[in-house]
Amino acid sequence: MDLPNHNPPRIYMDNAATTALSPAVLEAMLPYLSGTFGNASSIHAEGRAAHEGLEQARREVAAVLGCRAREVVFTSGGTESDNLALKGVAMRYRSEHERGGHIITSQVEHHAVLHSAEYLSGFGFDVSYLPVDCDGLIDPAAVEQAIRPDTVLVSIMLANNEIGTIEPVAEIATITKAHGIPLHSDAVQAGGILPLSVDELGVDLLSLSAHKFYGPKGVGILYIRSGTSLLYQQQGGAQETRRRAGTENVAGVVGLATALKLADGKRAVEAPRLAALRDRLIATLLAAVPHSTLNGHPTRRLPGNANFCIAGIEAETLLLRLDLLGIAASSASACQSGAVEPSHVLRAIGVLDKLAVGSLRLSLGANNTDADVDYLLDKLPAVVARLRTL
Ligand code: PLP
Repeated sequence: MDLPNHNPPRIYMDNAATTALSPAVLEAMLPYLSGTFGNASSIHAEGRAAHEGLEQARREVAAVLGCRAREVVFTSGGTESDNLALKGVAMRYRSEHERGGHIITSQVEHHAVLHSAEYLSGFGFDVSYLPVDCDGLIDPAAVEQAIRPDTVLVSIMLANNEIGTIEPVAEIATITKAHGIPLHSDAVQAGGILPLSVDELGVDLLSLSAHKFYGPKGVGILYIRSGTSLLYQQQGGAQETRRRAGTENVAGVVGLATALKLADGKRAVEAPRLAALRDRLIATLLAAVPHSTLNGHPTRRLPGNANFCIAGIEAETLLLRLDLLGIAASSASACQSGAVEPSHVLRAIGVLDKLAVGSLRLSLGANNTDADVDYLLDKLPAVVARLRTL
């Protein structure tokens, strides 16, 4: 007997956490997981075939970034790229000057940058964590004011992973360039949806991660502008022209390049489609849920990012209720040993802790439609009202 299906449809609105692998990307990867299995460093036909896949991927990534293929280093993801950018530049300076130097970053960076900076503090580096305004924007003038004679690196993200604010990286680049200081940008959230021309952005180092744009997990890139000096952090074989030792993840790299090329090709259509969905979601939610507020810049934000504080609720409970209704969403607040810890980003934009514990991030992607937004908007107000009575 056929039983009625009471399961709600699954609606995935957590594309900032990760995205679903695109079928076209999987197809491009499959040969490198089976027939073309060689080690890209081997001299024989199997190795040469893998090597060609790797180098073709490097050329495809370079075409999107508008850089030279040799300026692209493949890594294990955004975290490694950020670590390599910060530690690589800082440690090169230290090896030359036998002392720490000064690093400028912001209070709203991803932990891959913040914790790398903290680590470097332990080696004598001084770190300035620039504040942001209430929309999460960094003031380029504050970057200029923070520069010191011993500043070795500025690292400012292109788009924030929690609140979606897009930072004025190109404006900051004109300042760092005038002072001869390398500029790194964590562009992990911008991959595939914002323009990534490294010359227009003016960056010297840029991090990307494939799983944020419908590619596989565990593979990323660090763009390194020619002439930028780094002390490479991983010792072993001579892969990636001695910049990142370890047998290359050829299938992953092919997946990354295919995903980036596909996403970049659709960007002109997909970014406005997502922005329209996002704007409708934001306007309707703010009207339908009393005491809700938007976090992040109202217009300078990632096309798929909507982030709110909802007064009088705890995010964890809300996320569990939404999950039961088939909606996958997330929060900037993390439950650490029983207590809900508000995010450093919400604190930096001045959100009070009692509000920040009720944050909700809805990140839209290629999978989302108007019907998904309608479903969410239909369910959310009642869920919030119910939670507020508890
Ligand atoms: N930087 C930002 C802004 C991110 O959003 C993330 C992942 O969420 C990372 C870095 C880390 O990337 P990965 O998951 O590839 O290590």
